[in-house]
Amino acid sequence: MSRIFSGIQPSGELHIGNYLGAVKNWAALQSQYESYFCVVDYHAIIAAYAPDDLRRRTREMATSLLAAGIDPGRCALFVQSRVPEHTELQWIFNTIAPLGELERQTQFKEKRERQEQVMAGLLNYPVLQAADILLYLADMVPVGEDQVQHLELSRVIARNWNARFAPEGAPYFPEPQPKLTKTRRIVGLDGNAKMSKSLNNTIGLLETPDEIWAKLRPAVTDPARVKKTDPGNPDNCRTIFELHKAFSPEATVTEVDKNCRSASWGCVDCKKALFEHMNAELTPIRTRAQAFAEQPRLVDDALDAGAEKARTVARQTMAHVKDRMGIA
Ligand code: SF4
Repeated sequence: MSRIFSGIQPSGELHIGNYLGAVKNWAALQSQYESYFCVVDYHAIIAAYAPDDLRRRTREMATSLLAAGIDPGRCALFVQSRVPEHTELQWIFNTIAPLGELERQTQFKEKRERQEQVMAGLLNYPVLQAADILLYLADMVPVGEDQVQHLELSRVIARNWNARFAPEGAPYFPEPQPKLTKTRRIVGLDGNAKMSKSLNNTIGLLETPDEIWAKLRPAVTDPARVKKTDPGNPDNCRTIFELHKAFSPEATVTEVDKNCRSASWGCVDCKKALFEHMNAELTPIRTRAQAFAEQPRLVDDALDAGAEKARTVARQTMAHVKDRMGIA
């Protein structure tokens, strides 16, 4: 069975953007592939943060993932820092990662512009990403099309290590391929291209129906629909129409398209229909989250089991790597 690895930042409770963009897809993939899903807390510390807040956000993210359908019986769900081999392998990869490649990373170039003092972790961040993936000898990484280039460095590092330390014709590290997935990039409720907690334009995955409706009701729509009788164009209503495509059955999406263009209903009617379908999908997730809140031991057990499963593979990889490299 092929292996996949994917990581997610410990940003606290999931919002519907990262649920639809990544996690819903992970839940589908976990029964098809040997899956390792990781809350990447070591990645999170390259930006300023408060320790207690990081601990809380890591825990909330793990709970959200479990509530959203990540099943510890089918995959390994774990927190990155619980598997120290990630950073051990990163150091080794630092010795074979070309500096020029790291300096060319778009994220590094963009972020260094905004920082007065640039820390080495910002530059070496992609090396830790490569270690995350290659530690599990993952063949594939589920990504959207816009993230394909991020995998290139992992492939370069795998190639470099294999060229130096693997016998010819028997590469040890696979060159991980993108597992291209049909993910939805959801525009923020305010129309901003990015749905992000820091922009306060998201809906939390575990928010109550009242909270969801309070956010959906004023969300931006096609500006051409000033009055209920004005026809609109769903393609100009990226947030609500995209959410319909993600949560509503196909027949409803067709109805939305027709009713919007013919002004057969108003935007509030359209949002009410969306609200109904969102609730149908999100209610079981909220119920599961509630169960985890009442029995926190279930989250501990899932993360312990995930870390143990991950460490079993990680130890084997490191034993092989160290042996080939002549390290004690
Ligand atoms: Fe958007 Fe629906 Fe209003 Fe059309 S009717 S503009 S799809 S909210």
